[in-house]
Formats: sequence, C-alpha cells, structure tokens
Amino acid sequence: MRARARALRESGDVVGLVPTMGYLHEGHLSLIRLAAELADTVVVSIFVNPTQFGPAEDYERYPRDLERDARLAEGAGCDVLFVPEVADMYPEGHATAVHIERLSEKLCGAQRPGHFDGVCTVVAKLMNIVEPGLAVFGQKDGQQAVIIERMVDDLNMDVTIVLGPTVREPDGLAMSSRNTYLSPDERSDALSINEALSEARERYEAGETDAGSVVDRIRVTIDARPKARVEYVSAVDRRTLDDVRVLGPGTMIAVAARVGGTRLIDNVVL
Ligand code: AMP
Repeated sequence: MRARARALRESGDVVGLVPTMGYLHEGHLSLIRLAAELADTVVVSIFVNPTQFGPAEDYERYPRDLERDARLAEGAGCDVLFVPEVADMYPEGHATAVHIERLSEKLCGAQRPGHFDGVCTVVAKLMNIVEPGLAVFGQKDGQQAVIIERMVDDLNMDVTIVLGPTVREPDGLAMSSRNTYLSPDERSDALSINEALSEARERYEAGETDAGSVVDRIRVTIDARPKARVEYVSAVDRRTLDDVRVLGPGTMIAVAARVGGTRLIDNVVL
C-alpha cells in the first residue's frame, strides 16, 4: 500500500483516503463519491479495528462482507481497496497509541473508555501508510470528526480533512452498519432518534435557544419508545464539545441511545 501510494503521489496524483470498517452502505458510498470528486485516486480502507472496541462490545460479530464491499466501493469510484490484517496493523509488541485529551473523554468517550484512542491510533497509522492529500469522514460520527481534525492539527499531519453530511434511510434513520442488528420493532423505535433531533432543530429554527429544554424533550421522546433508552443527549459546541446552555450556530446536539442491544448515535449541527 505504501509503495502504491508513493508511486501515485510521485506521478502527481492527489490521493484521497476514506477509512471505514466495511459493510458499506450509502453513507460510506457518499464519502467515496465525494473523495472521487476531490482527488485523482481514491483509497478506501476496510479494517474492523479491534482497539476501538471495548471488551464487551461487538468486535466479533461486527458485520463483514468483503466481496460485496469491493463491488460497491468500486461502483462509487474507489480505485484502491486497502484491507490490512489485524496482525499487520498490530504486530506483536505494538505499544503506541494516540490519545487526544479532553475531547476523547466527553460524550461517547465517557461510555466507551479508550474508544477514541483506538480510532485515533488506527487513523494515524492509515494516514502514515497512505499519506493522502485529503481524507473524508462522516458528520454522522460528529465527535470522531472533531477529534480527528484536532489530531491532524496537533500532530502536523499534512492532510486536509473533509466531512460529508449524514446519509439517512428514507424514513430518517441514520445509516449505520449496526442497523443490521435491529429487529423490526427495534428499528421502528430507533426512528425516534431522528424524530427527536429533527423536532429539536425545528424548535431552534422557531426561536427556542434554551439547550436544557431542548435536550430534555429529546430524552423524553426517545425514552417513550419501549425498546429505546437514551445513553446521553448533549448540546455542545461543535469544536470544543463543551456543553452549551444557549443554542446557536455551531451547536451540535448529539445523541447516543441503546435500542434493544444496539448502540446507535446521531447528531444535528445547528
Ligand atoms: P464506519 O465504517 O462506521 O467506521 O464509518 C466509516 C466512515 O463513514 C466514518 O467517517 C463515518 O462517519 C462515515 N459514516 C458512517 N455512517 C454514515 C452515514 N450515515 N452518513 C455519512 N457518513 C457515514
């Protein structure tokens, strides 16, 4: 991969990288298409990264289908599919991790200790291997996007981070590889997440600026569904991830909820 990427760069190509864990859906494909518009050559990585899963999480059962992924990625404009093995990414003796202070401890980081260290470590490794001119991430994982932007600035990585908007199912559910875990009842209750966030946006657009009131309403709307339990709802500054009391432009309202056994996240940026 390194040799291939280096040759592409030397021939003058701008390389765009789209890191994923595979089981591709339209959200991933939109990022690949965006990369194809902005770069000459698109590298898509597929790597279910063990270091970003907690011990009781779904690493083993995370859905995988490489053949289908390869077909979909190519159709969206992927030129090189990079599928490293765990033993190649983390050979015996591997001992280095990237930790982004403060930002990594908030929101999802509070419930998934070490998660963002795993994400940042693997993304830094992918950046070092591919050395892309740009890398594309989804706003769906809003905290991850902020943390990666921070890492790239803090570590002087010579790569432009591009964010693509969240792609949703026709009924509003944010696309996620984990949606495949949902039973029909759970899927129906999962719709409350987007409904609550959309309602929050409408209230903001109608003049509501009290973060506490909007956050409470989201929590109540989601918890009203039998299969859905809120893990957190937060209104934060989109850059610092600090809680805000007054909603305004650049506020991100982020939700994590458990629906049945599945943990789902979503957000809106005002
Ligand atoms: P994952 O395979 O879940 O690690 O996601 C790989 C990339 O796709 C990340 O940058 C995600 O933010 C992005 N992504 C996942 N779901 C969506 C979606 N529904 N819309 C846009 N981007 C997404």
